[in-house]
Amino acid sequence: MILGSHVHFGKNQILDSCQEALSYGANAFMLYTGAPQNTIRSKINTEYLNEALKLMEENNVKIENVICHAPYIINLANKDKIDSWHFSINFLRQEITRCESMHIKYIVLHPGSAVKHTTEEGINNIIEALNQVIDDNTKCMVLLETMAGKGSECGKTLEEIKAIIDGVHSNNIGVCLDTCHLNDAGYDMAKFPEFLATFDKIIGIAKIKCIHINDSKNPLGAHKDRHENFGFGYLGFTTLMNIINNPQLKDVPKILETPYISKENGEKELIYPPYKFEIAMIKSGQFNENLINDIREYYK
Ligand code: FE
Ligand code: FE
Ligand code: ZN
Repeated sequence: MILGSHVHFGKNQILDSCQEALSYGANAFMLYTGAPQNTIRSKINTEYLNEALKLMEENNVKIENVICHAPYIINLANKDKIDSWHFSINFLRQEITRCESMHIKYIVLHPGSAVKHTTEEGINNIIEALNQVIDDNTKCMVLLETMAGKGSECGKTLEEIKAIIDGVHSNNIGVCLDTCHLNDAGYDMAKFPEFLATFDKIIGIAKIKCIHINDSKNPLGAHKDRHENFGFGYLGFTTLMNIINNPQLKDVPKILETPYISKENGEKELIYPPYKFEIAMIKSGQFNENLINDIREYYK
């Protein structure tokens, strides 16, 4: 089982990320190379990097199972504000260079929101942008994330993802499934084998390089994109476990992006990371209906 969560990229950069992941019992992790909402980035420090690589080796964490996520503000689909589009292209390019310098092999990207464009125009803008960023010499593969279809998001259907892949000249492009997004987009995760067969027919299973294994706060087809803790949403424990244990995807890292837990019921402040507990529960194969309380107790 290759399992982890998204983690911080702290003052000690990937070393912090790695230590946080290990503290959760993970053998994979996903990081943003700065805050996900902004583009403020510090220079990659080789000392921290080398220490992290050593720690990873000691703990059997393969670099192929370390994933980067591009910041949300990159939008390759909207060309209305041409400066922002060029900024997005340049920023993604820099982000890939940062990944390459850390030996990271995969970067997850939200394809983009078309805003006032049609989906088709949005997809063409994404293709044009990606062709300026990646070629066959790029050492970090861009993974298009399957989206919930909130607002004008592109990449909410397998056909849209396929269209982007087809338009990009380089083979350095893959897919990151997000189970919450797929549910919200209308793909029934309870029928995962059927979904995977459809995916294989349209795109090809080999393109799946990462899975965001989230539950959803909303029913099938809601187009909302609100993640829920593992087993506590509309997908449920059994459905999510069946995806994790699917033999066709056993080498693909599964990453939790489930929400932090609030101090007490009703309190807004989300402060306790659930990952140590969710990972333990997944490894045990048994649903723990008291998980949320256990987390509150542990961190109190
Ligand atoms: Fe994402
Ligand atoms: Fe995701
Ligand atoms: Zn999401």
